[in-house]
Amino acid sequence: MKKNIYKSLNSFLREKYGQKVWKVPVNAEFTCPNRDGKRGTGGCIYCNNESFSGAETGSIREQVKSRVEKLKKRGINKYIVYFQSYTNTYASVDELKMVIDEAVFDDGAVALHIGTRPDEIDEEKAELLAEYNKKIDVTVELGLQSAHDNTLLLINRGHTKEEFDQAFRILKKHGLDVCVHIIFGLPEESREDMVETVKYVSSLKADSVKFHHLHVVKDTKLFEMYENGEVELLTEEKYMKILAEALTILPEDTVVSRLIGDAAGYTLVAPKWPKSKSEFLLKLERYMNEHGMYQGSANQ
Ligand code: SF4
Repeated sequence: MKKNIYKSLNSFLREKYGQKVWKVPVNAEFTCPNRDGKRGTGGCIYCNNESFSGAETGSIREQVKSRVEKLKKRGINKYIVYFQSYTNTYASVDELKMVIDEAVFDDGAVALHIGTRPDEIDEEKAELLAEYNKKIDVTVELGLQSAHDNTLLLINRGHTKEEFDQAFRILKKHGLDVCVHIIFGLPEESREDMVETVKYVSSLKADSVKFHHLHVVKDTKLFEMYENGEVELLTEEKYMKILAEALTILPEDTVVSRLIGDAAGYTLVAPKWPKSKSEFLLKLERYMNEHGMYQGSANQ
């Protein structure tokens, strides 16, 4: 049988739930401690949440109901409730519980994915999520982006690698799945830096990983830097090659939840590749096949 080049989220979900499972993005209107002054101001230099919120409007319950009705019309009955925008554990434990209970209300919800920052994870919050994890599969999506403190400082992440490490370990101690977000092409990072980040995440044995290429979107500090010629973006070819190398380093059983970034067209300034995601994935597969590469192959 032909070996899969990587362990995709779709195949993992199909295997686990026996059918197609879709994500239902929810905007709970949390804010971010890296914007409101608790941790920092201005946010990460690339952040414009308008560029990635795909949620419906209305109350949390309405957002989920509206999207689920659409899915049902397409014959999709199982879904993942996905708290995507901003920092979705930036609240008290009681508030978090209220928000989650509003979003998770029927048997179609098989999993709960919560995007957040390392500095908004603590024992109490992890305990709460672990309670939900007894009833529904919980994954915490934790932004790392780079394992290099100098880069984290440069992109104004407002946390260190050490803080990420601590949050990761708290979540794992409570039996929660963790999906780590990584960005390739951050300012001043070399190929070796990116590879080191992947090696670090691989050493943690993260349950899943999301890879993104750096996007310049409107109304961000990165946009200003780009306009001033201070940022050099990766070409599609370079990104593909780094991604291929990263996949060979990842443990075979880590789920690859994303291979490329995604930004809403009207906010995106650069880069304008790929023209088509499916073509990019085909190119990646072809390249990896030609070079005998597959997920985990560097660890054999
Ligand atoms: S990317 Fe996330 S952590 Fe950074 S400013 Fe935006 S919402 Fe906050």
